[in-house]
Amino acid sequence: MSGSKGSFLKTEAAVAKVELAGEACLRRIEPLCRDLVARFAGWHKDARALIAAPQTWQRWSLYDRPLPHPWGAGPVTLLGDAAHPMLPFLAQGGAMAIEDATVLAACLARQSEDPAVALRNYEGLRRRRNARAQHNARRNGRVYHLKGPAALARDLTLKLMGGSNLLRRYDWLYDWRP
Ligand SMILES: Cc1cc2nc3c(=O)[nH]c(=O)nc-3n(C[C@H](O)[C@H](O)[C@H](O)COP(=O)(O)OP(=O)(O)OC[C@H]3O[C@@H](n4cnc5c(N)ncnc54)[C@H](O)[C@@H]3O)c2cc1C
Repeated sequence: MSGSKGSFLKTEAAVAKVELAGEACLRRIEPLCRDLVARFAGWHKDARALIAAPQTWQRWSLYDRPLPHPWGAGPVTLLGDAAHPMLPFLAQGGAMAIEDATVLAACLARQSEDPAVALRNYEGLRRRRNARAQHNARRNGRVYHLKGPAALARDLTLKLMGGSNLLRRYDWLYDWRP
């Protein structure tokens, strides 16, 4: 991004590394991460230059968890990442949290005399869609990180599929209406 007051460049890099929860969930500002530069050593020089450019990195740990069942109890429920953290490979964590909020508000408005029933209705209405988004995010993660011949086959498939067919595969996601 750039403007009259200066410029700002945001770089994101995803590194597959399984860690235990705990310290890993802290968001840390790290100095230029040599480990990160090393991990992308085989990439095109422009990509490596982008990765080497930031003076600090902010670390986000990625979380995934099957939807708990039940998902709430009595007058308590969850929405967004608290209910269904998802991997970033569908870019939908925030979108699903907003959809959750929309549906939750509508359920509470419809059933204001019994909030616990409204919360169970909300959970029922959101379960399948959130699970589908989580599933697709996991699958995209696997596809994006293919290597060698499998990566070539993926690239060819995407090319043959074409932009509009590719977009149509996501109609279920982007055509959603409350
Ligand atoms: C690098 C990155 C890129 C992303 N890109 C996208 C994207 O392109 N599209 C998309 O849809 N999603 C994206 N996401 C995911 C999205 O940011 C999250 O899914 C979304 O923010 C979840 O919203 P939430 O309200 O559930 O949780 P959060 O945004 O985590 O909000 C929870 C809030 O609760 C506060 N909190 C925690 N504990 C307490 C407490 N005890 N008391 C009071 N407050 C508390 C926290 O400080 C926080 O403000 C991205 C995430 C990351 C890390």
